[in-house]
Amino acid sequence: MISKSNPFKFSLITAMCCAVIGLSACSTSSTGRHQVMLFSETELNKMGSSSFDEMKKKEKISSNKAINNFVQCVANAVTKNVPKSVHNGAWEVVVFDSKQVNAFALPGGKIGVYTGILKVTEDQHQLAAIIGHEVGHVIEHHSNERMSSNQLTQTGLKLAGTLMASQDVENQKVWMAGLGLGLQYGVLMPYGRSHESEADIVGQDLMAKSGFKPEASIQLWKNMASLSKESPPEFMSTHPSNKTRIKQLTAHLSKSKALHKTSNTPNCKKPKM
Ligand SMILES: [Zn+2]
Repeated sequence: MISKSNPFKFSLITAMCCAVIGLSACSTSSTGRHQVMLFSETELNKMGSSSFDEMKKKEKISSNKAINNFVQCVANAVTKNVPKSVHNGAWEVVVFDSKQVNAFALPGGKIGVYTGILKVTEDQHQLAAIIGHEVGHVIEHHSNERMSSNQLTQTGLKLAGTLMASQDVENQKVWMAGLGLGLQYGVLMPYGRSHESEADIVGQDLMAKSGFKPEASIQLWKNMASLSKESPPEFMSTHPSNKTRIKQLTAHLSKSKALHKTSNTPNCKKPKM
């Protein structure tokens, strides 16, 4: 990904294509980054839904009621506070029965949580930190940006419409890769560092607004760090250094604490695992 390996090249491309495509494709994220987005919301939602259906076909879905209730309870509380402009309607939440320490969210109101990550999240607050982070990627249109930058680097200024036009298996793979789901189903691909930091900040604010303790996001990454000493979980290998992450989350804590309302603290009980 160019945004990770060569930020200068990316900003140059960003500036160039803003000039060529026009301002309609350019916008600014909530933390002030310039973004280039070639795809419409409708297109992204369609790609998200289609990729989610693929995931559901390929991965084992958990039928454990208590676990599903717990994840659904936390996801409901968090998504209630996502702007309607991002997704208007109910979010579909699926628990995948897998040892993978992983989770993801997709445009079109889709959330996937692997049972493996529940071993790292001690309670509802820490799971809210995970879901807040993943939904943060969706709120800030990161997959649109990534798909757009892939499109621009691979084919110059070829119109995004070409990708949307045909719907064969190869295109499904391209969509899934752009959405971060990888060519191998169930394996998540890394976002760039700037996307990760932004999702952390947006996620911490979102969990606080939803009644969860924002400081739980810091404990979560400490848990991840100690787990990675034994064997690095998938979630860690696709996400940047937890030291930097903990530092940024700690620095932002006073701002997200100001958004924290204890009056609406959810009561989602983590079942024994
Ligand atoms: Zn992330």
